[in-house]
Amino acid sequence: MTVDKQTEEKLIALLKQKINRQLLYYLDICARCAICRDACHQYVATKDVHYLPAYRAELIRRIYKKYFTRTGRIIPSLYEGKEITDDLLDELYKVTYACTGCRRCMFYCPFSIDTTWVLSVAKTILIAAGKGSPILTELADAAIEKGKNIDLFKGIMLDILKDTERKLQEKVGDPKATIPVEKEDSNLLYVALSGEHTILPAAIIFHQAKENWTLSLFEASNYGYFLGDTAKAKTIAQRIVDEAKRLKVKEVVVTECGHAHRVFKFFYESWAKEKYPFQVSSILEIIHRYLKEGRINLNSKYIKEPVTYHDPCQIGRNYGVFAEPRDIISQVSADFREMNPQREKNWCCGAGGGVVAQPDLDEFRIKTGELKVKQIRQTGAKIVVSPCENCRLQIETLNEKYNLGIRISSIMDLVAYSLLIPREQS
Ligand code: SF4
Ligand code: SF4
Repeated sequence: MTVDKQTEEKLIALLKQKINRQLLYYLDICARCAICRDACHQYVATKDVHYLPAYRAELIRRIYKKYFTRTGRIIPSLYEGKEITDDLLDELYKVTYACTGCRRCMFYCPFSIDTTWVLSVAKTILIAAGKGSPILTELADAAIEKGKNIDLFKGIMLDILKDTERKLQEKVGDPKATIPVEKEDSNLLYVALSGEHTILPAAIIFHQAKENWTLSLFEASNYGYFLGDTAKAKTIAQRIVDEAKRLKVKEVVVTECGHAHRVFKFFYESWAKEKYPFQVSSILEIIHRYLKEGRINLNSKYIKEPVTYHDPCQIGRNYGVFAEPRDIISQVSADFREMNPQREKNWCCGAGGGVVAQPDLDEFRIKTGELKVKQIRQTGAKIVVSPCENCRLQIETLNEKYNLGIRISSIMDLVAYSLLIPREQS
């Protein structure tokens, strides 16, 4: 069914705003060579044409041809132009919100077509048509509300932190060890995820490195980014940027979270049209820095079982951090085994891009994790390490569903608990 005239005009106007040299290049240059077919874990696992990267972009190309080319306007069927209908928007929804944003297709495409970028345009259109992902909208709105009412949440957070602080003191054997919050002039503002599991290991590491740090009141995750709503994504990230400015910190350190790292490193400054007055780093880079500076020393015999490493797409292929995590793991394990392929060519775990947060994609997510399962099995590793919460959640699900018999760990856990083992006991 065709959408009503008013909606159609609104969506065309929106697409017009989005048309730039980059989008036109992507829409024009595709040679339909289908090389990207074998690069996308979703297509390889399902053989469904909807998950072919080139097909996903093709839906936007067809709308563009129908409304923005002379031939498409006159004889759309001949020139592959497509009118905006409810069915087309539903199809666009299916291909868009399932994409994990791993950009493996771009890596293999001879023209470096960034399908994820084209799908960011698709998300803008879907949101304007009232067809953005409902669950991602809900999660993004909840984060924005929390940010507006942070004083209400602060009391609860500080109470929970007291308990985490007690655990920290016990673990490091120092009754004065603290988890500082809102401490001005700290070197680092550490941005964790919801839950103690990303706070306690970081606090152990910072304590052992004698770091002057403070914990952010806000969580790193950004559902506005997954949703594809730049205004919401900016609002969610801005709370942390404002906090960092208010506290006058030198560096914002993002926990092991691929997309949050990408938001702060690549997007926020252009969304806000401003330059940060601080540096942004991943916790991996900080740990690696401490090791290089001799501020922490790891126990080389901490891990006795074979270990492998899963490169999160947003930290590896899309940011280029490959050496640091491998270096850290090698310092606590004598049996490190690479997955094949790895680094830039690593297969996506299947859960990124907000896929893990969409329950209607659960079955699909497990199916499209098949390649990751195969890779893990081939290594014979008993521990899989990955510095991204989404990847770890997915690998835990795959472990359960495919009986992998593995343990999954963050880099921070490996480092923190290795630091706590006295050398003579190893
Ligand atoms: S690999 Fe690139 S050029 Fe070839 S079909 Fe895919 S998107 Fe188009
Ligand atoms: S970004 Fe990843 S999931 Fe999305 S189309 Fe490309 S290969 Fe497939």
